[in-house]
Amino acid sequence: MRFVTIATDHGPRACGVRPDGYVDLHAVDARLPSSLKAILALGADGIRRASEATAEGAAAIAPASAKLLPPIPDPQKIVCIGLNYRDHAEETNSPIPSEPILFAKFPNTLIAHGEPILLPAESRQVDYEAELVIVVGQGGRRIPKERAMEHVGGYMPGHDVSARDWQLNKPGKQWIAGKTFDAFAPTGPELTSADAVPDPQALGIRLRLNGETMQDSSTAQLIFPVAELIAYLSRIMTLAPGDLIFTGTPPGVGMARKPPVWLKPGDVVEVEIDGLGTLRNPVVAG
Ligand code: MN
Repeated sequence: MRFVTIATDHGPRACGVRPDGYVDLHAVDARLPSSLKAILALGADGIRRASEATAEGAAAIAPASAKLLPPIPDPQKIVCIGLNYRDHAEETNSPIPSEPILFAKFPNTLIAHGEPILLPAESRQVDYEAELVIVVGQGGRRIPKERAMEHVGGYMPGHDVSARDWQLNKPGKQWIAGKTFDAFAPTGPELTSADAVPDPQALGIRLRLNGETMQDSSTAQLIFPVAELIAYLSRIMTLAPGDLIFTGTPPGVGMARKPPVWLKPGDVVEVEIDGLGTLRNPVVAG
């Protein structure tokens, strides 16, 4: 089951995706909430009802006439994992982490597929990072690893845009400063429900900059896979439906290149994950 969230006169609406377009789920089945995170909170029952409503809906909304929002426009939390691909840790001369390295983004960073990444005047070193994003379904605290996959609502492509001069060259290495400029977290275009992703640790993940492949790896390279991240994070915080977990980026980032590559106005960045779609965003001066 694939979902999008679109802007309507009634606010954001979760839609099911089918070949002829988008079906407003709440409009077809009033028992379904209008927000995607609330549908994910219903677990397998919500996915089943949403799937039925998508098939039953009469008129689909043409994608060309719809304004996409981030699939989850209103998460309670955006947790990010640093250095979670073995060879990316190596390319940045960082030790292989023995536990997940956590940082965060905020909702100001979220933008949809097609919306521009804004280059802040305050940074000269804005970099790209392709990432698999886990979306929490049913929440929980102290979730055992063996039950962790039951708490995943779905997956989507994400882009962890990073101002390296702020992230690495400030006193104390201020990752949050470098990662939270407005528009620094594109996600989408769609969310694919977990039941439609048989193995999230076997997905090809690529990033193209102006058509040139800059990152090309597989989620099989994750040091801490999906279940471990859910279990680890839920030891610290209660995970809520719709929480986003950015799982880290593979090798090939701009700062590790010689010479380094920084995003510039006019660039187009694409994050492609097998089975989950392609997230495309232009880059403009902010
Ligand atoms: Mn990252």
